[in-house]
Amino acid sequence: MKPTSSTYTGMPTTVFEVMSGLAREHGSINLGQGFPDTDGPEDIRRVAADALMEGPNQYPPMVGIPELRQAVAAANKRFYGLDVDWQREVCVTSGATEAISDCINALVEPGDEVVLIEPLYDCYLPLVEHAGGIVKSVRITPPDWTLDLGALEAAFSEKTKLLLLNSPHNPAGKVFSQTELQAIADLLLKYDAYAVCDEVYEHLTFDGRRHIPLMTLDGMRDRVARIGSAGKTFSLTGWKIGYITAAPNLLDPIAKAHQFCTFTTPPNLQKAVAYGLNKGDDYFTGFTEGMQAQRDHLAKGLADIGFEVAPCEGTYFITVDARSVGLDGTDVDLCRDMTVEGGVTAVPVSAFYRSDAPTHFLRFCFCKQTDFLDSGLERLAAWVRMRRG
Ligand code: PMP
Ligand code: GLN
Repeated sequence: MKPTSSTYTGMPTTVFEVMSGLAREHGSINLGQGFPDTDGPEDIRRVAADALMEGPNQYPPMVGIPELRQAVAAANKRFYGLDVDWQREVCVTSGATEAISDCINALVEPGDEVVLIEPLYDCYLPLVEHAGGIVKSVRITPPDWTLDLGALEAAFSEKTKLLLLNSPHNPAGKVFSQTELQAIADLLLKYDAYAVCDEVYEHLTFDGRRHIPLMTLDGMRDRVARIGSAGKTFSLTGWKIGYITAAPNLLDPIAKAHQFCTFTTPPNLQKAVAYGLNKGDDYFTGFTEGMQAQRDHLAKGLADIGFEVAPCEGTYFITVDARSVGLDGTDVDLCRDMTVEGGVTAVPVSAFYRSDAPTHFLRFCFCKQTDFLDSGLERLAAWVRMRRG
């Protein structure tokens, strides 16, 4: 028989699904895959429940219901001062993952070069490769995850179509600085390239840091597609509602890619996310502060066990160097053993690399209640002791 897709045939299941499956199988405390252990704000869920019963439940407009597109435009103005035309510059998708796929499909032609920053979120590479893009990757390096601007420039060429930027960054917990963003913007202008900005953790920047969308820098407004996710902003990861903001020249082909991917997204969830985005500033500051406290709690607990904890400026995640507590073996083996023997689950950071990955970093997720984090830390401490003998 003829071969099936060379991108997807034989591809392993994503590390998040694998580790969550193993955690379920072993009744482990899952600090791997990034999802909160609470169910999102009750008022937002109530709006969704009411809208489900009241309807309409038929196909909503292809690019999203007007209330949500208006709310996305208003949030762009409120948080970043961006003026966005909700009718021509916003598209609602079934999660940020679909949004990333739509943007890549709409922008990348076979043979185009695409700059990716490693470690990278797992869907980027197959999506770019399947679109025929040639990946040029640069790295941010632990422990402080700095971006080598010389290496970044070297990754660009006349063939560069696109850079995919994730800030705040999963798994590094890095928030790209104004200087780094300016260097990226300069390169996009110099090489006449676009950026797709995965900003799903836009409301999770800590210690007073501001999230700066690349789109707000000079010359970037019509070169950048900016992606948000209600899953992250409202702790409703199972809802899979994403939104793209881009100038009409970009949004038009992106919406056409969306048209033949999912076409549209459940209307009741869209209505509830519109309500959520219009919530007062206290929701957003409370959300950030609450998550920062959980970061502090997990970081302290990991440091108390003896781990060297990398700085976490944003997102749901903390990374640690396994060698710092004397753990031998690869991150993949350690994460499996930690789940099976220790009853606590993390994600191996090597899964976020194309090749030549460092194999001693583990990623822990802190968007969990304090008791849950404490139980995980207790088990982890016991396992590390046992493992060291
Ligand atoms: N990008 C990053 C960096 C993520 O961590 C995630 C995980 N949720 C996504 C995109 C996907 O978001 P969604 O669940 O809205 O598809
Ligand atoms: N973004 C989540 C994480 O990094 C996982 C989402 C998924 O499983 N697709 O853990």
